[in-house]
Amino acid sequence: MTLTSDRPEKTATSAFDPDALREKYRQERDKRLRSDGNEQYQNITGRFAHFLDDPYVAPGFERAPLTDEIEVVVIGGGFGGLLAGARLREAGVKDIRLIEKGGDFGGTWYWNRYPGAACDVEAYVYLPLLEEVGYMPTEKYARAPEILAHSRAIAEKYDLYTNACFQTEVTDLRWDDKAARWIIHTNRGDAMKARFVCMANGPLHRAKLPGIPGVESFKGHAFHTSRWDYAYTGGDSNGGLTGLKDKRVGIIGTGATAVQCIPHLGEAVQQLYVFQRTPSSIDVRNNRPTDPEWAESLEPGWHQRRMDNFNVLVSGGFQDEDLVNDGWTDIIRNLLLRVSDEQGGTLSPEDLERVMELADFEKMEQIRGRVDTVVTNEATAEALKPYYRQFCKRPCFHDEYLDTFNRPNVELVDTKGKGVERITEKGVIADGKEYELDCLIYATGFEVGTDYTRRSGYELYGRDGQSLTDKWKDGVSTLHGIHARGFPNVFIMGGSQSGFTVNFPHNLNEQSKHIAYIISEAAARQARTVETSKDAEENWVNTIIQLAQLRQKFFEECTPGYYNNEGKPGERSGQNAWYGAGPVEYFKVLSDWREEGSLKGLELS
Ligand code: NDP
Repeated sequence: MTLTSDRPEKTATSAFDPDALREKYRQERDKRLRSDGNEQYQNITGRFAHFLDDPYVAPGFERAPLTDEIEVVVIGGGFGGLLAGARLREAGVKDIRLIEKGGDFGGTWYWNRYPGAACDVEAYVYLPLLEEVGYMPTEKYARAPEILAHSRAIAEKYDLYTNACFQTEVTDLRWDDKAARWIIHTNRGDAMKARFVCMANGPLHRAKLPGIPGVESFKGHAFHTSRWDYAYTGGDSNGGLTGLKDKRVGIIGTGATAVQCIPHLGEAVQQLYVFQRTPSSIDVRNNRPTDPEWAESLEPGWHQRRMDNFNVLVSGGFQDEDLVNDGWTDIIRNLLLRVSDEQGGTLSPEDLERVMELADFEKMEQIRGRVDTVVTNEATAEALKPYYRQFCKRPCFHDEYLDTFNRPNVELVDTKGKGVERITEKGVIADGKEYELDCLIYATGFEVGTDYTRRSGYELYGRDGQSLTDKWKDGVSTLHGIHARGFPNVFIMGGSQSGFTVNFPHNLNEQSKHIAYIISEAAARQARTVETSKDAEENWVNTIIQLAQLRQKFFEECTPGYYNNEGKPGERSGQNAWYGAGPVEYFKVLSDWREEGSLKGLELS
């Protein structure tokens, strides 16, 4: 293992008492536990429905309804849909249609154009199909416009604009058993037929609002970050929000989105109030332009090798070299140093867990230490320190966020884990004090733990008219997270019971290869339908439940968030979890399965 680092000198960490930290973490979690879990959030409908309007298209688009027949329909034009389209094209599938709610490809990056939007997973591993498209990102961490442009380049390269339906929302899918076709209904009056359907709806797709009393009463301007209102704020995703210079602005939420837009708000507004329930961990980002010499030196196949290397390291595995070498892999570096310090790598699982916890404490002490070195006001600094294990919430990486709280026009309103109390006509009440606002921004994230069909926005009716919601009423049930019995010729992407990695497109890429393989095998074997067997599905569900038990304690001890079903990790959320042996193993399960070649566990008719 090469443990060299080109990262800046670490912030000094003081000695810590593990028992005291464990107790502090427990207290902080307990402050935030609440009985309503996911129910605390509010659906964006009714008087808030305009929060989800597409600001990037001209109004009035119309087209005639479609009733044609397609070989493969892919729902969703984000990285999942683009990767499925690309891998299907490579497998020789000609007749593909992508259906997308937005006005273009890009998914997350189509919708999220808030100031500062960028990806803090390294661009050389995050952006898919770099070698195929022949593109090298301009910086180590790509900004949103570059990612959106790359999405469009993938669609061009694989001819996915042909036949695509934009500004089209699927309303339901119905299986016609006689014809062995799916009928796809949309909000444009379509009733298209498809042999196969890939569902690439995206996991963080349905924006949510906090269910705070009075949320409907605010009379000022308000919007959700996933539809940033530049007509009101001025500027663009690089900042320059000149429309806010005489405005009092409040932002609710301090997750990964808020961390990126708050520095731009701080620069622009007359007064900013940041309403915080739980602080994020803010590690070093250290973005830099791509070195052309380094890019020149890369050998073919570098992209997959780099993705694999990163994936192994962030999954807690060992590699001879850390190619990405950033904040994500830093925790593993700490761990490896500790393991080699202790026993030369021959630790029992219990000891390994203890060492992992110590490495985590050390990492989070470093994160907390960084707050003290940047934020001058002591009380503000203390409130910005996260007290939980790093992967209880999505770690953040930013070099300007903390410093924003040194500005005289920025105030952190720390709600000590409780959230804001009430929203009024004039503003927000926290800890008994009313903050008057001209504009309120919701950086409150997206639904995660709710029903799959609610999040996707449409229902599936499979064999005998059974709905997917009904099939999954007691928990998700699939083979490999991809196939659900009773729903032939449908492939689910990026969902429960599949692999999870912080480099999310990596999982979508592996699933896309897998789905393209199955669809081309179905054609080669002249199969009309492909469906998981009852046994194969049951076995996979049992595997998921067993593996989830390994992480149960970790998630129980975590502060609430969408990683632990808002503080309610239980049997059902265990069944609805990701594949618990990690993404490296999950990708191997899929590739071994393809290698074996008998389409084991699938029934073909
Ligand atoms: P999150 O769900 O991560 O954050 C929502 C925020 O709203 C949290 O801080 C939450 O507090 C807060 N909140 C919710 N209800 C209340 C309330 N009643 N009062 C006060 N605060 C409240 O959403 P994001 O949009 O920030 O991020 C979603 C995901 O998108 C990330 O986890 C990440 O996976 C991805 N992302 C990645 C980025 C990147 O690569 N840089 C950038 C942006 C997003 P609490 O924590 O207490 O629940």
